Amino acid sequence: MQFSDRLQEKNSHCATVTDIQTVSILGATGSIGTNTLDLIARSADRFQIESLTAYKNVSQLAKLAKVHNAKFAVIGDETKYKELKSYLAGTSIEIGSGETGLIEAGARQADCTIASIIGSAGLRPSIEAVRQGHRVALANKECLVAAGDVFMSEVSLANAELLPLDSEHAAIHQVLCRGMLDEVKQIIITASGGPFRNWTAKQITAATPEQALRHPNWSMGAKISIDSSTLMNKGLELIEAHHLFAIEPERLKVIIHPQSVVHCLISYYDGSVIAQMANPDMRTPIAYCLAWPGRMASPTEPLDLIKLQSLTFEAPDTERFPALDLAISALIKGGSAPNIMNAANECAVAAFLAHEISFTDITRIVEKCLEKADQQNLLQPVGTIDEVLALDHEARQLVGRLIDQN
Ligand code: NAD
Ligand code: MG
Repeated sequence: MQFSDRLQEKNSHCATVTDIQTVSILGATGSIGTNTLDLIARSADRFQIESLTAYKNVSQLAKLAKVHNAKFAVIGDETKYKELKSYLAGTSIEIGSGETGLIEAGARQADCTIASIIGSAGLRPSIEAVRQGHRVALANKECLVAAGDVFMSEVSLANAELLPLDSEHAAIHQVLCRGMLDEVKQIIITASGGPFRNWTAKQITAATPEQALRHPNWSMGAKISIDSSTLMNKGLELIEAHHLFAIEPERLKVIIHPQSVVHCLISYYDGSVIAQMANPDMRTPIAYCLAWPGRMASPTEPLDLIKLQSLTFEAPDTERFPALDLAISALIKGGSAPNIMNAANECAVAAFLAHEISFTDITRIVEKCLEKADQQNLLQPVGTIDEVLALDHEARQLVGRLIDQN
């Protein structure tokens, strides 16, 4: 089905959403989770929190569950169940833990589930939310990179309303509302270029996690900040766009735009180019997902183009940032290549953050892992979530050995 057909169908479905929306947040203590709760607190009369989840940060989860009057709170790390129980003693908030609890949080009836766990750890809970057939606002891009076709077929099967929460993809969604996909010549996704945009190759070799975490425009969780500094984030986003909008890799392109004000540009066959602009604040795409097909207020600073004076664009430098090309070749190769690449990248980023490998080792190790997986014939397509996660596990083992040998 064409993306625009889906859009029309979803528009009519949306009209049935009641005035007070119930919302679940998978990954409530993270950057996307807390930004979502900030928006919800500003429009408290419109929303009611169903479930909130976190991995280890039990005190913050308990605090958020109490402040936002959640019905169900889940801690991913099972060893922290008792702690959560004692924090929430005397309240009527139900408690869960471990993967079972996270999946139950996804399965809770909510008008909208914000899928904002980081990495492929979010796959099962997010799929469970999709299976309920309501709205899922997807920030957890690794779900689509790891399990694109399997994930999208679950969306169709459940007739769920999948909305992109990633800023570029929410931007594309807004622009595409106005036209047909077959009229589109190219979808251009912008990238800030990250903190090392102006660094020489030699300087990049010595980049530390602390420097890589200092994103020039966005305040985000650690993993996505590192992905932004290697440009792997843009590679993941191309794969995300391919699945979300059913568009071939050849019609997708990345350009560097250091101000992060233009989030996408869509060029049509008649020469028109339509862009979406906003100051870089995730509360804009989150508000878009919460209120769609309407709009709601967000505290994002209004865009002042006169103050900004200039918006600049440049081509990505794939010599200094080879992760982008690596992701494009995984996208073109298809099958399980994006899944293996994603798992390898998650492990390599964690090793870099732990000071175990260097910045340039991240992409080198991911590439090596893909080569090894290819030699072992692991890049074939798979058809189930269990198979996706088994390959994810295999890739993590491969990377573990590569890091040990490094
Ligand atoms: P974060 O690290 O700030 O938060 C991650 C959340 O997931 C936390 O609540 C954490 O407790 C939970 N979590 C971590 N590991 C888990 C596990 N193993 N099991 C269960 N829960 C776990 O991450 P973030 O920056 O909010 O990013 C979340 C997702 O949104 C990522 O997929 C990211 O790519 C995407 N995204 C983020 C931004 C942003 O501005 N932060 C923008 C676009 C897309
Ligand atoms: Mg993005």
